[in-house]
Amino acid sequence: KSVKQVDYGTFMNMTEDEKIADVQIEENQILFKDKDGNEYRTGVVNDPQLTERLHKANVSFNEVIKEKDSPFTDFLIAWILPILIFFGVGYYFNRKLMNHGGGNSLMFGAKNQVKVYVPSANGIHFDDVAGEDEAKENLSEIVDFLHHPDKYAKIGAKMPKGVLLVGPPGTGKTMLAKAVAGEAGVPFFPIAGSEFVEMFVGMGASKVRDLFQQAKQKAPCIIFIDEIDAIGQKRTGNAMGNSEREQTLNQLLTEMDGFNADDNVVILAATNRPESLDPALLRPGRFDRQVVVPTPDLRGRRRILEVHTKRTPLDPDVDLEVLARGTPGFSGADLENLVNEAALQAAKLNQDKLDMRDFEFAKDKVLMGRERRSLILSDEEKRITAYHEGGHALAARLLPGSDPVHKVTIIPRGRALGVTMQLPEEDRHGYSRSYLKNNLVVLL
Ligand code: ADP
Repeated sequence: KSVKQVDYGTFMNMTEDEKIADVQIEENQILFKDKDGNEYRTGVVNDPQLTERLHKANVSFNEVIKEKDSPFTDFLIAWILPILIFFGVGYYFNRKLMNHGGGNSLMFGAKNQVKVYVPSANGIHFDDVAGEDEAKENLSEIVDFLHHPDKYAKIGAKMPKGVLLVGPPGTGKTMLAKAVAGEAGVPFFPIAGSEFVEMFVGMGASKVRDLFQQAKQKAPCIIFIDEIDAIGQKRTGNAMGNSEREQTLNQLLTEMDGFNADDNVVILAATNRPESLDPALLRPGRFDRQVVVPTPDLRGRRRILEVHTKRTPLDPDVDLEVLARGTPGFSGADLENLVNEAALQAAKLNQDKLDMRDFEFAKDKVLMGRERRSLILSDEEKRITAYHEGGHALAARLLPGSDPVHKVTIIPRGRALGVTMQLPEEDRHGYSRSYLKNNLVVLL
């Protein structure tokens, strides 16, 4: 029997029309059968709502798990794992005992295993990060240092060992760190702060030690610690505190003090809450430099939209300037998501280009949540919602200085029965008392 190749839009339409009986999602293709037993194949698209839609359409589906197991891994699982668990549990209680009463190890003399950190070679450059010009300018100094360390050494200038990237999620901090490594052409060691927080006391600290050891061997290089607040929070100094986290933090401080500028290792870390970090982390010689990575302004949003629409065909009616103007507060990741939602919508409607309506649809979905057309409301409930939203909208319209009303709807979205959305005309950086008071009036 032949398998017919179709595009993803067809697949989505067939799902919607409940023509599909069975779906099998594989790593790089989706195989499905219609109710007459014909078989089809389509590509895999990043589509987080897919499973939800399949479920709604009563399709039976499963994801094929690649068999990687061999008799040897069976053997490992059956025999070695229980032994490891046995020792692990022993080790845990052992450490607990040591922590509470001091004394010698009961079961282990030596240290635990070493994890190998794989530096990732990536091709990201500053040009790939749209906007964020000040952050880039700040970081290019580090790139220059990694290129010409002697220039700095000659006049006795010391490079910062650690740079803290501060900004809300999705603004491109990880991208910037990768770009520093990419521009300098050096290995990049990424790790998330939460990966250091282990079940067993002392493991996090030894991970930090391993990481720095391996980084030094690969120097010059960049270490990037994402979400450093996971380990870098203020220490409490209280015996009931999280001693695992504090040991890890202490180890990080020790390691940072232990290498110097000629080791050519630069540590970048990202956080959204610099104020929650332990002050010891921010002292000179550690993360003594902060680079702010804010949500993009109008120009930045426009550039980011340009970057992310490069590979999507756009209808001539799409005006990125208007979109950028209508998305204040969106981060780079939000904008990327917006473009993707618009593309999904266009594919669903079998369009071959994205038009402004797709973007409007995507924006509403991102800002206000998905429409819940399935929710049945009585006319009376709709009337009440209409009065309610009308109240918000009128108040917003009539109070001087309020942000203009962008959209009012009584189609339920997310958890709301209706939404009145206001959008500022331009990026706001400060709020006046009367603006905030008017906002309260609108909300109430
Ligand atoms: P953070 O580390 O600040 O949470 P990331 O660097 O992981 O954010 O960004 C997430 C995604 O958002 C990136 O993979 C990228 O596609 C997109 N993005 C964020 N900021 C930008 C930007 N300034 N230019 C282009 N794309 C961006």
